[in-house]
Amino acid sequence: MAIKKIAVLTSGGDAPGMNAAVRAVARTALAKGMEVCGVYRGYDGLINENLLPMDLRTVSDIIHRGGTALYTARSEEFRTLEGQQKAAETCRKNGIEGVVVIGGDGSFRGAQDLTRQGIPCIGIPATIDNDISCCEYTIGYDTALNTCMHMIDKLRDTSQSHDRCSVVEVMGRRAGYLALNVGIAVGATTIVVPEVPFDFDRDILERIKATYETGKRHFIIIVAEGIGGVDEMAKKIEEKTGIETRPTVLGHVQRGGSPTVRDRVLASRMGNAAVELLCKGLSNRVVAMQMNSIVDFDIDEALAMKKPFDRAMYEVAHQISI
Ligand code: ATP
Repeated sequence: MAIKKIAVLTSGGDAPGMNAAVRAVARTALAKGMEVCGVYRGYDGLINENLLPMDLRTVSDIIHRGGTALYTARSEEFRTLEGQQKAAETCRKNGIEGVVVIGGDGSFRGAQDLTRQGIPCIGIPATIDNDISCCEYTIGYDTALNTCMHMIDKLRDTSQSHDRCSVVEVMGRRAGYLALNVGIAVGATTIVVPEVPFDFDRDILERIKATYETGKRHFIIIVAEGIGGVDEMAKKIEEKTGIETRPTVLGHVQRGGSPTVRDRVLASRMGNAAVELLCKGLSNRVVAMQMNSIVDFDIDEALAMKKPFDRAMYEVAHQISI
C-alpha cells in the first residue's frame, strides 16, 4: 500500500543546508501526491505533537538560508522508551507513515528507536563535522569549510601585517576533517587534530622555527575543538619563540550562513532520495554520498562503520605549508 503521509524533522546540531533538505523532502512528497508535515524542534516536536502541515509554499524562500526553519533540539525525553512511545503515538494519531530525520549520528540512533516502535524512518546526514562514516560529504560541511576559510583569510591579513602567529580553533570535537581541510586551504603551518597524536615542541615550535629561518614572519596554527587549549598554546608559543601570538576561537559562526552550491545540491538530492526510499517501503536506512552518487545503508550498518582519517593528506598538508 502506497504511503499517504510523511513527516520531516531536523535534530541535533544545526547545519547549513538543512532547509534545502527539508524543502526537497516536502516537494518530492507533494509531487508524489502524499501529504507531508514538518515537525518543530526535532524529536521533542514529535513527542509534543508540534506539527506543521506543509504545502508547496510552506518551504518557499528557505533554500538559501542557514540554520533550520523547523528549529532543532537535543531531546532528553526521546532517549527514554516512554518518549519514543509518545513520538510513535503522535505519528499513528496523525496518520504519519514515515519520518525523514535530518541530523547526525545521534539523530540516527533516535531513528533506529522510532523504527523499532513501528514508524519507518530514513536518516539524512547533516553535520558540519563530516563525521558520518558511510558518507563522504555531509550537508553543511562544505559551507562550514568555506566560512572558516574566509574568516581565517581575514585573520591572515592582520597576522601578516603585524608579523604575528594566530592559533585558531575550528569546530570538530571528535573529528579533525574540518581542521585538516581548512588547514590546507589557508596554508596553516601546523594542523592539530584528535586523530593524530601531537608533540608541542616537534609539531609546533620546531615547525615555526624552521619556517622562520626561511624568512616567513607570520604563522597560522589550526587546532580542532577536540584538542582545545588555544589560549595556553598561544601563550606558550609567544614565550618560547618571542613571536607575538594571538588565540582565536571561531565558535558558532562556523555553523551559520547561506549554504554553498555544493550543500544545496547535496541536500536537494538527499531529500529526494529519502522520500523515494520510504515510497519503496524501506526503513531504518540512511542516505549517503559516495563518489558523487547518492547511495543508502542500513542505519545499524552505517553506525558500525569507521571513517579512516586521511593521514596521507595530513602529511601533504605539512609538507607544503612551510
Ligand atoms: P551532531 O552531530 O550535530 O551533534 P547529532 O544528531 O549526532 O548531531 P545528538 O545530540 O547526538 O546530535 O542527537 C540528537 C538527538 O537524537 C538527541 O537529542 C536525542 O533526542 C536523539 N538521540 C541521540 N542518541 C539517541 C539514542 N541512543 N537513542 C534515542 N535517541 C537518541
